[in-house]
Amino acid sequence: MTSATPFPAPLPLYAIGLGSNRRHARHGDPRRVLLAALAAIEADDVEPVDVSPIITSEPIGPSRRRYANAVALVASPLSPPDMLARLQRIEAEFGRRTGQRWSARTLDLDILLWSGGAWSDGELHIPHPAMTDRAFVLGPLRAIAPGWRHPLSGHTIRQLAARLIRPKPVARKAVDRRAAAH
Ligand code: ATP
Ligand code: CA
Ligand code: CA
Repeated sequence: MTSATPFPAPLPLYAIGLGSNRRHARHGDPRRVLLAALAAIEADDVEPVDVSPIITSEPIGPSRRRYANAVALVASPLSPPDMLARLQRIEAEFGRRTGQRWSARTLDLDILLWSGGAWSDGELHIPHPAMTDRAFVLGPLRAIAPGWRHPLSGHTIRQLAARLIRPKPVARKAVDRRAAAH
């Protein structure tokens, strides 16, 4: 008798953020670009688990076009650098030119979370450093992974999303003072 378990260990999970604010000649508008990107991400070693609704968000940075955003959960044995390389290859296939950050782009694929926890090297930081400030990330992520804990802060995605829409404490104090004056 061996102690080997009859079931393989579960694969690591990744949360991938998808964004597009340009049409693609073949796929069409940004929403369709995301649907095509979801199909392109699926591979022998990248198994789709869940996908959020696609939302529309205002642009950040120099571009004025609105974005389509979504988050996908995938299971994959790929290491974080290999997953980043895979995603960058798909971005390139969709015609993304490297260059200015936040510029208009056909497809942006970010690694938001990895079930292995935090990862940091010269080129890759997980959790994605800006995810906790972005409603267009936390909203879709909450729809599919509300209980996932941010490995650095320990907060759940549900808590992080609620914090983002709640007024800042300073603003609340000012409101309280105004109310007390009346
Ligand atoms: P932001 O990172 O603020 O969302 P962006 O997506 O427009 O901006 P890019 O130009 O796509 O930025 O990427 C810049 C670099 O960010 C990439 O070359 C990549 O090495 C690095 N990077 C670091 N952490 C991550 C991550 N978690 N996911 C994707 N890229 C990352
Ligand atoms: Ca991004
Ligand atoms: Ca990116």
